[in-house]
Parts: sequence; structure tokens; C-alpha cells
Amino acid sequence: MDRIYMDNAATTRVREEAAEMYLRVMRENFGNPSSVHAFGREAARELNAARKTVARVLNAEKDEIFFTSGGSESDNWAVKGIARALAHKGKHIITTAFEHHAILHTCEALEKEGFDVTYLPVSADGLVLVADVANAMREDTVLVSVMAANNEVGSVQPIAEIGALCRDMGVLFHTDAVQAAGHIPLDVKAQNIDLLSLSGHKFYAPKGTGVLYIRRGIVPQNLIDGGEQEKGRRAGTENVPAIAAMAVALQLAAQEMREETERLTALREKLKRGISEICPEAIFNGKAGLPGHLNVTFPGIGGEALLLSLDMAGIAISAGSACTAGSLDPSHVLLAMGVEEDLVKSSVRFSLGKYNTEEDVDRVLEKLPNILQRLRN
Ligand SMILES: *Cc1c(COP(=O)(O)O)cnc(C)c1O
Repeated sequence: MDRIYMDNAATTRVREEAAEMYLRVMRENFGNPSSVHAFGREAARELNAARKTVARVLNAEKDEIFFTSGGSESDNWAVKGIARALAHKGKHIITTAFEHHAILHTCEALEKEGFDVTYLPVSADGLVLVADVANAMREDTVLVSVMAANNEVGSVQPIAEIGALCRDMGVLFHTDAVQAAGHIPLDVKAQNIDLLSLSGHKFYAPKGTGVLYIRRGIVPQNLIDGGEQEKGRRAGTENVPAIAAMAVALQLAAQEMREETERLTALREKLKRGISEICPEAIFNGKAGLPGHLNVTFPGIGGEALLLSLDMAGIAISAGSACTAGSLDPSHVLLAMGVEEDLVKSSVRFSLGKYNTEEDVDRVLEKLPNILQRLRN
């Protein structure tokens, strides 16, 4: 029987249209986009087309789109770049306790450089309160970074409101939209976003490709120095095939968003209902936001053990986040939401995606009772 992949929040399978684009550009268009000759100009054309597509989807301008190696680089560049560029104005940054490690560890590195970081608490539902952001603002605050949607529980944050608040106060606003991009609507203008990170492999494009949107007029310090690529702000020969593939995947995700949201929400709700029937004491973590996420606590069951049992049954899910798997650290996201440590260790994440079907959900619900029974004994 085919294996079932329900870990789409960790990464996704590249969609056919993106794979085709990737192969076509790699085969036919290998030039260096910085070269002056025809080979270079053709590669530059692909890059330009991709930039235009990404800008259109985000309601940004073409010259505000910078290609990077992925979400982690975009987050590092945004936060370190702004902090270092504005250090003369102030050294205070506001973020939240349940950001991805690409933000949290970046902030910890900045604390060692002498910056002061406020880590806002989150509600039991996994929501950041706009009032908490307002209350944390200080004279020396230079940046607020709040994720658009949480990767472990899928809760969608009030980024438009936080963006409006920051704009009013004259403080820059960055959002890690890696988990949100391609899944919920993003509009950098309507949402008052100054910097936004996204990553291709979370929306069916190849790994190792990302974007940092930087609003016109804002200049974070460079993270990667070298050649004049990306207007001299991010050195390194662009991965043109992967970038072209990412652009096509982002555009298709935007086109299919409404229908796919409906489909995934129905699947997720079916899975949730089924789990409740099998295990009435199961607890669902976080206010539903992203359509495919379902974070569940099975009291008395080890999350890691459940993951391994499901894996043996050919079903791939995650315990906490992929980045903390293999370590015994309990999820910092659930801890920040106030979930007790025992229950955190009994929690797993199902994340449904484009390639999941109703049959997949049926199969999970069919396997689960025996596995839970065995793990209880
Ligand atoms: C996956 C993820 C990242 C890291 O992106 P990479 O492209 O894997 O470096 C950052 N933030 C969030 C919210 C993510 O889900």
C-alpha cells in the first residue's frame, strides 16, 4: 500500500508544474543571469519573470522582491539586517515566544550583540494579542517580528492589525509568512508589512529557495556580501531554475487557494471528528487557522512513540516541529501556549496538503485505534 504523507508543514512534495519548470530552465537556460551575453540575458529574463510573478501575488513591486536560499535566510536577513542597520536609533526588538527557531535563535544571537528582545506571550489558542504588541513598544523599539501563521498549530495571527499599529508608531514590521504563503491571502500593502519572508518548499516548490520582500526605501544591512546580484543586496549566483519553479508554484497556489482551503478544511474536520470518536480525551491545540493543520494531544501517549508507530504503518506525521524532532526538547510553541509539559510530550501534528485524499484520512482513522491501544499498554 502507498505510504501516506501528512507532514506538509515540514515540507511538501514539488508539484508537477514546478518540476517541469525547474527541468526546463535547468536544461535550456543555464546561463548566469549576471552575464551580458545572450545566455545570460535569457536567464535574466526567467529571473525577471519570476520576480514579477512573486510581486504580483504579494501585491508588491518587482524591485521589492529579493530571492534567498529559503525561509531561514530570509528571517535572518530581515531581523539581523534591520537591527544592525537601525542600531543607532535603538536596540529593542519585539517578537513572540512561539516563532520559528529561525527567528528565535536569530534574536538570541542579537542579544549577544547587545540588542534587547521582548518575547511576547501567546494565548492558549496560539494567538498574539495586538494590545500586547502595543504595550511592549518603547522609545528604542526598531523592529517588530510576528509570524503570519504558526507552523506547529496553524493559528493565523492578526498581522494586518499589528502592521497598522507599527506603521502608526513608525516601527518596522517583519512577518515570517513561511507557513502562510500559498495557503492564506497575503497583501503587503493592505497588511502594512515592511518585510516578509517566504520559502518555496512549503508550497510545493523546490527546497533551498525563498524570498524576502523589502518595502521600497528600507535597507537592511546585507547578510551575504559578494557580487552585485539582487541589486547588490544579496550576493550569490541565483538558483534560476528553482526560483522559476517557486514563482509558478506560488502563482498556482494563489489561484487554487479558495478551492483548496475548502477541500483541506473538510478533510481536516473529518480527521478531527474521527480522532474525537476514537479518543474522546484528545485535545486539539490552537485556534484553527491554516486549513491543513491539526495539532493533537493524546493524554498518556508519547508523541514520539505515536509518530514511530504511525510511521511503521506507513503514515508520516510529526511530533512538535520537524526542527525539534530527534531532540528531547518539548515543543516551545505548545509550552508558550501554556500546555503542561506532560501534555506537550503527548502531542503530534498532522498537516494535510495538496496530495492528501479522503482515503488517506480514512486510513489514518482505521490504523489509529489499534496503535493507541498498544501504546496505552
Ligand atoms: C519552515 C519554516 C521556516 C524555515 O524555512 P526554510 O526554508 O526551511 O529555511 C521558517 N519559518 C517558518 C514558520 C517555517 O515553517
